[in-house]
Amino acid sequence: MLRKHHHRGKSQLSQPTQCLLTTISIFLYLCLSYLIFTDCFFGITFSDLKYRLGLSDFSLTAYNSPFSIHFIDVGHGDSILVRCGENTALIDTGKASLGNATRKYLQRCEVKRINLLIVTHTDSDHIGDFSSIADYFPIDNVFLSQYNIRSSSEQTETERMMYAKIKEHHIKVIETGINNYSLGDVVFQILSPGRDYQNKNDNSLVVRILYKNTSFLLMADAGQGAENDLINSGKTITSDVLKVSHHGSKTATSQAFINKVAPKTAIVSVGNEEKSLPDSAVMQRLKRSVDTVLTTLEDGNIIISSDGTQLQTFTDPKSKVASFQPKGTDIGKQSASIPRT
Ligand SMILES: [Zn+2]
Repeated sequence: MLRKHHHRGKSQLSQPTQCLLTTISIFLYLCLSYLIFTDCFFGITFSDLKYRLGLSDFSLTAYNSPFSIHFIDVGHGDSILVRCGENTALIDTGKASLGNATRKYLQRCEVKRINLLIVTHTDSDHIGDFSSIADYFPIDNVFLSQYNIRSSSEQTETERMMYAKIKEHHIKVIETGINNYSLGDVVFQILSPGRDYQNKNDNSLVVRILYKNTSFLLMADAGQGAENDLINSGKTITSDVLKVSHHGSKTATSQAFINKVAPKTAIVSVGNEEKSLPDSAVMQRLKRSVDTVLTTLEDGNIIISSDGTQLQTFTDPKSKVASFQPKGTDIGKQSASIPRT
């Protein structure tokens, strides 16, 4: 009986059915392979599929949004990714010593090309990861602050590294002061420096980014002199989001400036390497005047997406720099020893 039953079970799948199942399996396998290798199948990309299945990670949170700005947690430093359709801009790269956090983040975001890399100024906490990014991603244009250009004998080691990579990869350099540039639907207004402040931080490129009716003011490390000039310039500096200057240092972000910008959200890009940052008086001023104040120190990577009118903010405390550590690859000893409190 047993043998007979076993025999009948086996024969339940007739040969044509088996054939059909095999054909369907091969078809699905080929579809999946095609999707993985070409990243597009009947208009569905692999990223889209991952997103729809809830498998995408935080960096793809804004995947379906037409515009997103990502304040990448690079510890003490700045690195800000802007994505709009096919276009990608990066404002600063953070430093290299934190395990190439920016490069890895861009990889996670499946960035293929950087159309515009704005170097606000050339301190290592802003361009330290330039080398690894330029080696990994094609970069079309680099913006440099016209008042921060030094002759080769005056350049720092970090600046020499940057110029060497610019030359090696034949990247177009635009030395700029106040000007407007557009990349697809995004406008980059360079609002400062309008004069030479004789100081690298104050000569930072201050960028106001416009996407339709939404605006983002990125202050780099510009100090109060540049802030006052902006207040008195008569230009519109009101913005929905303010990237606070100089990692929340007391060198900037006066009450008058906060009032003039009137942001709904303020972001401080800061690590815990320098205990005096962010300055407590600056944080108090911000918290008194701004609805939402976020720091990369507390909130990890921060993404704000825009549909041209409405903003949505996403934070990912789990992504804090500490979580990038250490998997034993190219993570510097320096970063591994940084305590997180
Ligand atoms: Zn800085």
